[in-house]
Amino acid sequence: MSKRDYYEVLGVDKNATAEEIKKAYRKKAIEYHPDKNQGDKAAEEKFKEATEAYEVLSDEQKRSTYDRFGHEGMNANGPGGFGGGGFGAGGFGGFEDIFDIFGSFGGGFNTSYGRSGPRKGKDIRVNLRISFEEAVFGASKTVKISRNEKCAECDGSGAAKGSGRKTCTVCGGTGQVKNLQQTPFGTIQNVRTCEVCHGEGSTVEKPCPTCHGTGFERKSKSLTINIPAGVDNDTVLPLRGEGEAGERNGQPGDVYIFISVKPHAYYTREGKDIFLDMPITFAQAALGDEIAVPTLHGKVKLKIPAGTQPGQKFRLKGKGVAPLRGFGKGDMYVTVKLEVPKNLNSTQKKALQAFEEVAGQEVHSEGKAFWEKINK
Ligand SMILES: [Zn+2]
Ligand SMILES: [Zn+2]
Repeated sequence: MSKRDYYEVLGVDKNATAEEIKKAYRKKAIEYHPDKNQGDKAAEEKFKEATEAYEVLSDEQKRSTYDRFGHEGMNANGPGGFGGGGFGAGGFGGFEDIFDIFGSFGGGFNTSYGRSGPRKGKDIRVNLRISFEEAVFGASKTVKISRNEKCAECDGSGAAKGSGRKTCTVCGGTGQVKNLQQTPFGTIQNVRTCEVCHGEGSTVEKPCPTCHGTGFERKSKSLTINIPAGVDNDTVLPLRGEGEAGERNGQPGDVYIFISVKPHAYYTREGKDIFLDMPITFAQAALGDEIAVPTLHGKVKLKIPAGTQPGQKFRLKGKGVAPLRGFGKGDMYVTVKLEVPKNLNSTQKKALQAFEEVAGQEVHSEGKAFWEKINK
């Protein structure tokens, strides 16, 4: 299976900064988001691909591993990554490096125990879509996950009650299977982890009836997540130890909550700043007025000076979002839109015509300048 290069997926340079990667991902995520492309499998795949690329490239440690080892290095994350891998007697010195790197962030392989020792459980990814307001103010959410838990009946041993373990007949208890291979350079000894006992050297006498000898039970579990205020589309919340059960008494994996925020009908957000378009009337713009702006923190009065132009932007300091990381609150930017009235009745028309008659060119300096220039 050939996998696209993560940099290629996001369309960024190998030397891209964290900010460039974030921007590129945001663009892809918006374009291919499942909400916008309902039922479109290709878009869904693209979305997943971009998200996976971003997960790796946005994490300094994962990115450096990826840069060094490519997709191979990423696959090592979690149990099974090396499953059935032919560990050559010499040769694969590079693997040690990968173990060290992944061991340091709990990737699920711990060299100190060896291959038949405890192994950390896999991580679980949960995509959680929340509302605009929930992202700004925080929320408590419940998600349901399905995960492997240690079998309660046999306490994860996989053996039926009263039955023990017996030496593996395939590897004779060593947990490894050796075979000799003739090559033009001489005889090479290959050592593989025994596939029958998975390197443990023993198998259960009688499998546990509940888990059929696996030591695990598939359970669904509800997790309550306290989403802190200020999260955004790129936020990932870890829930330590809530992932898949570890093997051979290894630690459980983690759950990662990937936050995505639903767009708001009126507000848009960029980091900690909030943007709002607000309609005002011609008279309000011309004469000036005090308008009530609905901010996320309640209504706030905003003075519109006389002669305000369409598209003019006003700042309401501190009426933005308090970010999850970083200091201070963002601001709110209000852009005024001029609403041109439709379907005027005769009284209204007359009033406007009367204004036109008394207004003349002096109060419309832009129009005056336009005609002067164009007539030249
Ligand atoms: Zn064996
Ligand atoms: Zn069991």
